[in-house]
Amino acid sequence: MKSFRYILRQTILSAIAFSGLYNLYRWKNRDRVLVMVYHDVVDDQFDIPSDHYNYNTTIRKSRFVREVKYLCRHYTPITLENFIAWKIKGEKLPPNPVLFTFDDGHTNLFRNAVPELNKRGVKAVFFVKSGCMGMIEQNYCERYLSYTASYKEGQKAYTAFRQVPFAQQLAMIDQCKGRQYDTVNPQKYSHVTQEECLALLKEGHSIQSHTVHHYILSSLENSAVREELFESKQSLEQLFSHRVETLAYPFGDPRFDFGEREKIQAKNAGYLLAFSGERRDVNGVTRNEDNFSISRFGDVNHDLLYFKLLLSPIRLVK
Ligand SMILES: [Zn+2]
Repeated sequence: MKSFRYILRQTILSAIAFSGLYNLYRWKNRDRVLVMVYHDVVDDQFDIPSDHYNYNTTIRKSRFVREVKYLCRHYTPITLENFIAWKIKGEKLPPNPVLFTFDDGHTNLFRNAVPELNKRGVKAVFFVKSGCMGMIEQNYCERYLSYTASYKEGQKAYTAFRQVPFAQQLAMIDQCKGRQYDTVNPQKYSHVTQEECLALLKEGHSIQSHTVHHYILSSLENSAVREELFESKQSLEQLFSHRVETLAYPFGDPRFDFGEREKIQAKNAGYLLAFSGERRDVNGVTRNEDNFSISRFGDVNHDLLYFKLLLSPIRLVK
């Protein structure tokens, strides 16, 4: 039985959705670009517990399809080339543009997201880790977090982990050996192969850099940051004969995971733009927004009415 509170909330959200308020909001923000970010699009049968440390970045396929349908109905999908030309050269875009981006390059995207994008002619951006292609593995932070038993414990561990130097992070992972709660499920942790990337490029999607190993850049020495940024760009360009001009910072929180040093290094490595992680209160990107800290919007664990509300500036919810 749904609670009274839930029914009341859904009624209010439906009333907002039907009131035309969202149309007004989109009209007001028609010159901004909505940049979406997704990580994992898993099969509907895949059960990810709500206290799993990756719950916030995992969306089921059926829910993803509803989001894509909604976005394609109310926004105009653009390509990365369109976005770069607008951001750097001031070229024009259609009203209410949306750019779809996907981080981490997991195989579930290839299986569950890409056919839905192709069906609707959406050309997306896939930020892949050049050092993990075709592999089944967690990133190093997930390896550490897989020793935590609950979401709360995971969040605490994540905060501690991301704020110490790289050598200490490796020592932390080492200390936890032997008490792993989470298993390396191929549904979540297998990465696309070179062939799959080539197929994506053929379909008009773009392959861009998410570094080599997905380390937290701010915890690395200068030379290691340079290597992560430079090497991933170079190897992806060589592998695919395709320009790699943009980067998504691993983890991507500007408070912890990257700063001025990383932005300068990204520029020096030849990137034109760099994207940060997800934010839930983003109104869309303006042309003046910092080219090396472009914010994106993502929400995966609420119902669609809630998603529409988050997408708008109406701050009834957190
Ligand atoms: Zn990532």
